[in-house]
Amino acid sequence: MIILKTSEEIELIASAARIVADAQQALVKEVRPGITTAHLDLLAEEYIRNRGGIPAFKGYRNFPKTLCASVNDQVVHGIPSNRVLKDGDIIGLDLGAIIEGFYGDGAVTIPVGTVKPEVEKLMKVTKESLMKGIEKAVVGNRLSDISHAIQTHVEEDGFSVVRDFVGHGIGRQLHEEPQVPNYGRPGQGPRLREGMVLAIEPMVNMGDSGVRVLNDGWTAVTSDGSLSAHFEHTVAIQASGPPRILTTV
Ligand code: MG
Repeated sequence: MIILKTSEEIELIASAARIVADAQQALVKEVRPGITTAHLDLLAEEYIRNRGGIPAFKGYRNFPKTLCASVNDQVVHGIPSNRVLKDGDIIGLDLGAIIEGFYGDGAVTIPVGTVKPEVEKLMKVTKESLMKGIEKAVVGNRLSDISHAIQTHVEEDGFSVVRDFVGHGIGRQLHEEPQVPNYGRPGQGPRLREGMVLAIEPMVNMGDSGVRVLNDGWTAVTSDGSLSAHFEHTVAIQASGPPRILTTV
């Protein structure tokens, strides 16, 4: 069942999502060659708690950390560690926060130092595909109109969309219905309604779409070792016009 949110509930989700976006902005300033992903995790937890939030991922199905830090061929759910970031890496920073029982969820992928032009393009196209999907999150459309817009944009540029992980509804739970795939034919699935809150999150590979999960039970990597990018916003569908993006500073 898709749970529609009241405007009061959306404000609480917005509070959580704003902390996520602010924390990400703070982390982006810290990312540079020579620092560890564990350091970024500590900063993220401190930031969220200082703002009165609870880290949403820490302890979620036993995930051990606040931040999902996914480097290079890691698609999502990378566990922060003593891995040292190097010039030319890319890193996905996925964070969730809880305020008064409501969740916000968002992700960005950024370069470490200088990356090759094709890697810049992978990140740019992934971010663009998220915005193309968000444009379709309007009353009257169906859910897969979002999915189709994302897939179309990604594949136009020769990249591929990950199938094994999808976006999701969000509210009092981190993952609610509906699932929001980043691929599919348009015009399918539930009609979009005011009060739906969705975490839309394309994961895009430079090579083929296959992924596998490492023995740590969390870290998803591309099967072919190619690089992968991930962007995510939590958005609220409005009575008319484009959705409100809640993961903004
Ligand atoms: Mg998410």
